Amino acid sequence: MQHRDVMDEGDVAKSYADRHNQDALNRVLANARRPVGLGSEFCIDCEDEIPADRRQAQPGCTRCAECQRVHERLTGGV
Ligand SMILES: [Zn+2]
Repeated sequence: MQHRDVMDEGDVAKSYADRHNQDALNRVLANARRPVGLGSEFCIDCEDEIPADRRQAQPGCTRCAECQRVHERLTGGV
């Protein structure tokens, strides 16, 4: 019974890890499929999805608004 509890926890953790890895992989693939110059569907910094309205307002953007702010602060506003 004790062993079964441990195995269940391990299965849950493994399942979560598999899903997480698959999710990350999908995001990398989604980015790789984007033609150069059209920006990225997912933020290259935090990997959050970039909202469609932001992508339309900022063609070629590769970061979400939050990461773009940080990036501009770190690079002197460029
Ligand atoms: Zn971001």
